[in-house]
Amino acid sequence: MKKLHIVGNWKMSLNKQDSIDLANKIKSISKKEYLNIEVAPTSLYVDHIVKILEESDVNVISQNFDYENLGSYTGGVCLDQLKEIGITKTILGHSERRSKFNESDDQVNKKLETVLNSELDVIFCFDSYEQVPFELIKNNLKNNDNLKLILAYEPTWAIGTGETASIDHIEEIHTKVKNTLTECSLENIPILYGGSVNPSNSREILSSANVDGVLVGGASTKFDQLLGIVNSI
Ligand code: PEP
Repeated sequence: MKKLHIVGNWKMSLNKQDSIDLANKIKSISKKEYLNIEVAPTSLYVDHIVKILEESDVNVISQNFDYENLGSYTGGVCLDQLKEIGITKTILGHSERRSKFNESDDQVNKKLETVLNSELDVIFCFDSYEQVPFELIKNNLKNNDNLKLILAYEPTWAIGTGETASIDHIEEIHTKVKNTLTECSLENIPILYGGSVNPSNSREILSSANVDGVLVGGASTKFDQLLGIVNSI
């Protein structure tokens, strides 16, 4: 069975105590050989959640980053700081960062270049084929075998709306992206789907061609639903 990724994005949805309670429950999830499970807490609590989950089978990642190095960037969080607290991977380019925090494609792509040349791995979110910077990836990804880069197709209209894309639609976009990756000799890059994934639809989505996992928002903040997704495969 191919390796599947289940990534929970807690966004800014949980307060401190709820994040701690959820992490304590998540500790009990044991990894299946073919599964990689990760959660991305609010940056304010990442350090705390890393400590709760450090002995567990669930990896803690970041939702975003701002700059490469320490410096005068008020309100920012940089890759070096994330690395210092044990974070090895970050999400980048989530549609909420693009639409609600005005991160442009240019800014997101510049950050992609930065992280691809850093020690951290990255999950790059895109909401259309056109948003994937294939050339930049090809020029900056030095090793295509170690999961340095994961792509996540997240149609904006499906995020947090309860409307999941049809399997046909998911397969169409994933196959198109995979074909171009293959032309660039980058066929090992996994492609996740995100957009209202829940325990009722996860099995079908995760069984689809060219789907290597799911990026889950709302359902990942409720333990029973996250566990339901993990157990659906
Ligand atoms: C997300 O935040 O990436 C996401 C897909 O959210 P939801 O699962 O709530 O649609």
